[in-house]
Amino acid sequence: MDQEGIRRAVRDLLRAIGEDAAREGIQGTPDTVAKAALELYAGYGEDPAAQIELIEGPDNLIVMRDVPFFSTCEHHLLPFFGRAQLAVLPQGGRIAGFGSLAHIVDACARKLQIQERLTEEIADALWRGLRPQGVYVSLQAQQLCMQMVGGRELGAVTVTVAARGALVEGPLRQEAVRLLGAGA
Ligand code: ZN
Repeated sequence: MDQEGIRRAVRDLLRAIGEDAAREGIQGTPDTVAKAALELYAGYGEDPAAQIELIEGPDNLIVMRDVPFFSTCEHHLLPFFGRAQLAVLPQGGRIAGFGSLAHIVDACARKLQIQERLTEEIADALWRGLRPQGVYVSLQAQQLCMQMVGGRELGAVTVTVAARGALVEGPLRQEAVRLLGAGA
């Protein structure tokens, strides 16, 4: 990541909004933003599917509730954040450790995103990485751009869903949604 490029851009932004980039309180801001970017945008160049730690287990439905995520809206560069609900129906004894599931969500979230694409990317990574019978992903998020800019939809929660294979429809999907609870 081009740290100097980010520092330069932040200094330009500070000047453009009418700030004094040399003011004591914000002298260090370009550097802080550049360092934060290493974390906030760490998902670029990572293939989350390739990083799944496969372990062996029964082909029973696995659900993981309330995995927290933080991402950045690609239109406003403001955060959107919330919780992911995941369900996987394994195949061939291939299951992922719970840490791997949480890591997939994190890796997909740490770049510029829209919530719909983030949901699809998480589902794709699980689908490619585990080759399971089915995947179900639901995200509930708050978009700070919706709350701070324009319409001011304070506290509005947006929900998106993506599914693959045996969890696209039918009784198994219903079972996954039931286990995931109200958030799904
Ligand atoms: Zn936005």
